[in-house]
Amino acid sequence: MDGGIVTNRRFRFAPSPNGRLHLGHAYSALLNRQLAVTHAGDLLLRIEDIDTVRCTPFFETAIGQDLAWLGIDWSGRVRRQSEHFDFYRTVLDGLGDRNLLYPCFCTRGDVARAITTFPAAAAGGGRGAGWPTDPDGSPLYPGTCRRLTDAERRRLREEGRPYVLRLDMATALAVARRPLHWMEYREGSEPRRVDADPSAWGDAVLCRKDIPASYHVAVVADDELQRITDIVRGADLLAATSLHRLLQELLKFGAPAYHHHALVLGADGLKLSKSRNSPTLAELRRNGTTPEDVKRFVGLSGNG
Ligand code: GLU
Repeated sequence: MDGGIVTNRRFRFAPSPNGRLHLGHAYSALLNRQLAVTHAGDLLLRIEDIDTVRCTPFFETAIGQDLAWLGIDWSGRVRRQSEHFDFYRTVLDGLGDRNLLYPCFCTRGDVARAITTFPAAAAGGGRGAGWPTDPDGSPLYPGTCRRLTDAERRRLREEGRPYVLRLDMATALAVARRPLHWMEYREGSEPRRVDADPSAWGDAVLCRKDIPASYHVAVVADDELQRITDIVRGADLLAATSLHRLLQELLKFGAPAYHHHALVLGADGLKLSKSRNSPTLAELRRNGTTPEDVKRFVGLSGNG
């Protein structure tokens, strides 16, 4: 490149090696590949394995085999997130230095107790009933640790109490340029502007107790580092994009275009998943399914 401006479109397929890939992953990978080819862009492969307990080298190898079987190749070296915790730490420090993060020592039990004693929750009936949840279905954090003094934080740290780092959403929204939005692309229709609603996530956890990062931080940091221009991923991550846009804004990162594709559903009409024993690509392959069959099934036949 020799310092020239990079203008080509960059896509990425970013699976987590915590199980075998199924048809939903195949669709996402094939669609990324098809769009990269259509736009004469690059497709990168990123292994999202920050959860070093659930993710294993065995599943990472299996991802390589499945993609090879589908005929999908990628540009450059594979990026493995578990090798870059220092980088995510630096990104988190950038937010922490601006007082956008605070340590939270609450356990799940502490959160459950805090929301059941809240008057609005009590009015709603049962334990925590009526308390708002984030788009993943977890109760919004009631803010207990946001109100700790510096001295209390120091004491709890010195006691060795484990903690997560949460985004101070109210402060972050005040600092960010608003309103936030992104461009959403869909085949066959005009790109549309979607307004982001990061507040739906409340004080989101950006650094976990067991893992020195979170999906949200690692994905946003890597998309910037890898100069991804087009994020093509399942509609199940649509809500997360609101939080990602806020982080991109706070960190002065670029704003990629998004394409949240429909999910491949099973015969029961539910999203395919490891926990529901959806057939894996490896099983389909063993039973005689061909890559062409897979492409036909997901509606991407004849597109390379
Ligand atoms: N690693 C995520 C997954 O396997 C995908 C993340 C993304 O595409 O942003 O569901």
